[in-house]
Amino acid sequence: MSPPLAAGAAATSPALLVSIHDVSPLTLALSQRAVALAEEAGVARHHLTLLVIPRHEDAAPLDEHPATVAWLRGLSGEGATLVQHGCTHRMAGRSLGPRGLFWAHLFARGQGEFFNLPGDETARRIERGRAILRRAGLEAATSGFVPPAWLASPDAACVMERSGFTFLEWLEGLHHLGQRRAPRVIGLGSLNAVEAAATAAWAALQVHGRPADTRLAIHPADLTRPSSTRAVRRALQALLLGHRPLSYAAYLGIA
Ligand SMILES: [Zn+2]
Repeated sequence: MSPPLAAGAAATSPALLVSIHDVSPLTLALSQRAVALAEEAGVARHHLTLLVIPRHEDAAPLDEHPATVAWLRGLSGEGATLVQHGCTHRMAGRSLGPRGLFWAHLFARGQGEFFNLPGDETARRIERGRAILRRAGLEAATSGFVPPAWLASPDAACVMERSGFTFLEWLEGLHHLGQRRAPRVIGLGSLNAVEAAATAAWAALQVHGRPADTRLAIHPADLTRPSSTRAVRRALQALLLGHRPLSYAAYLGIA
């Protein structure tokens, strides 16, 4: 049943930027459920942003998976924003300094592909991912870039800034034309029950804060745990009361 959503959200309301992370052939079914969940809560497809992994786990090239390609082309045709999300998503090697332990392993679960990469390898992976998206007929996904877990080494971040993307997304916000926008981000961790409960509580606190442009990050893993799915649904319903949903491209005025 649809909630009485968006009744209070006017054209001047702050934006709600809903993104589905980690979309790939490996997560197709869960990604489709995430889109359905957002739609049921009242976020139309053309207001969604999907973060697409070109070669997930270095094992699932998108251009060789017709079902995922067809689904993404359909969404793009309906107006959803597609964004390149790394190349493999997986971090090579290990990072065992204190900063590395926290960010790469606790926060990103070893999924910070660019966390410890030098500039040349970063450029190679960006190009490799782009080529896969183009071969898949998903050129639209190459105008923006989100590094997995929003992490990058300083050299990798420099390369991303110079790679011709119209916008980049970091944990701190969307970077576009020299501005940082929508710094508030809400996401859930679904790795285990304790983490899921803790992050759901944190998300609930942020959801009920003062309305401001807000990014809501939904991960396919959120759909594998009923409590996390409920938390995402509650967050969407609460945020839609005072925010108007927009895709990244529409929000940045590049749609
Ligand atoms: Zn990701």
